[in-house]
Amino acid sequence: MTASGIAEHAVETFAARERQRFLEQNPKSVALAERARHSLFGGVPMHWMADWSTPCPLFVERAQGARFHDVDGHEYIDFCLGDTGSMFGHSPAPIARALAEQAGNGLTTMLPGEDAVVAGELLAGRFGLPYWQVTATATDANRYVLRWARAITGRKVLLVFDGCYHGTVDDVMVRHRDGRTVHRSGLVGQAHDLTRYSRSIPFNDIAALEAALAQGDVCALLCEPAMTNIGMVLPEPGFLQKCRELTRRYGSLLIVDETHTISTGIGGCTKLWGLDPDFFVLGKPIAGGVPCGVFGCSAAMADAMSQARRHASEHSHGHSGMGTTLSANALAMHCMRANLEQVMTQAAYDHMLPLAARLAEGFRGLIGKHGLQWSVTELGARCEFQFCPQPPKTGAEAEAAFHDDLQMALHLYLINRGILITPFHNMTLCCPDTSEADADRLIATLDEALTELLAIPG
Ligand code: PMP
Repeated sequence: MTASGIAEHAVETFAARERQRFLEQNPKSVALAERARHSLFGGVPMHWMADWSTPCPLFVERAQGARFHDVDGHEYIDFCLGDTGSMFGHSPAPIARALAEQAGNGLTTMLPGEDAVVAGELLAGRFGLPYWQVTATATDANRYVLRWARAITGRKVLLVFDGCYHGTVDDVMVRHRDGRTVHRSGLVGQAHDLTRYSRSIPFNDIAALEAALAQGDVCALLCEPAMTNIGMVLPEPGFLQKCRELTRRYGSLLIVDETHTISTGIGGCTKLWGLDPDFFVLGKPIAGGVPCGVFGCSAAMADAMSQARRHASEHSHGHSGMGTTLSANALAMHCMRANLEQVMTQAAYDHMLPLAARLAEGFRGLIGKHGLQWSVTELGARCEFQFCPQPPKTGAEAEAAFHDDLQMALHLYLINRGILITPFHNMTLCCPDTSEADADRLIATLDEALTELLAIPG
């Protein structure tokens, strides 16, 4: 038996049937996958693309709004939305226009334009932090903020929560095991001992938080307001306020990474819950799907950054160790401006949030109907069902509820019937183009999946 009450054997029978069905109904994807093996490592341009539930990669022809079409002509309702990169829909019209406008006007000059000024003003107005920098990805933004935090505080240790993900930043690739910080499993080519300057503690554990900060060597706590990368884990009431209070008390900075939690509302959790971070990070959907990340900081941090910079370059030309050549390029800035002005609007959230609530209600209904020991967690436009009876409180609890075979089998069933949800866990996002009928179709299709799966003798 799996812990979620469904027999392993039934899951395997169900999954085998769905793998067969996928291969039969996707001959063009199968052929492209075969061809790709000769030129792309692992048959895909980025190895995560081979990690989905499908027996070979699903090749996309085009995407628009809440939908995409594969190369075999099937249409999908997309609840993954590029794992948040397209949280406001695929190719929103204002972004398509912005791309076309900028296309003939230069894509990258390593100089700013007026768009940068407008984007800075919009970011400051929206999120409440006065000063901004632009990067190519959220990973980069986190990496640079960490450098600033170390430079400003003169401390080296980064504090993170067990089960976190903040991009491929080396320093966050640690876990908490038996009271100790250890390397995250699966790391390839890791040369440095990450446990030396990184510390991992359980989420929602105030005692562990205080103990970690009280050592006096922590430059910053880097956190998501709710964990979203190990299944979702919401903060317990007052926990984030404690994060702010204790980081201040022990001279550490608070970095809030809202790359996923921006699903909560137009100003993210930072605005909604009054988090008051020293640094704020956001990437993925910020330029409507065009690669771009940002970080904002308080006025005090900006002063400290200027000082750190002066101090570092006192005796030589040197290099800050931050920035990439294409960061804040003209195309990204024009798209970010259009996105903030026209796409990532209150009206968009007003549409998305009730749809996610409808999905959550639907998931709860299915759990009740099929007598499953599962739970549902909601965070604005983002919603997730997890294979545990109570919503998890820590990353370890969330991870204990993982059932990869079951999760992959259900995802593949949905894909075979034109519905995509976020891989690796059971997360859904609603975008401004998602409709009530789309949400209802996901619930109805999952209902059919569960009915079929539970009918298979164990
Ligand atoms: N921060 C968070 C919270 C994320 O979830 C991710 C990606 N899943 C990142 C940062 C990194 O984003 P990117 O891969 O676009 O750099």
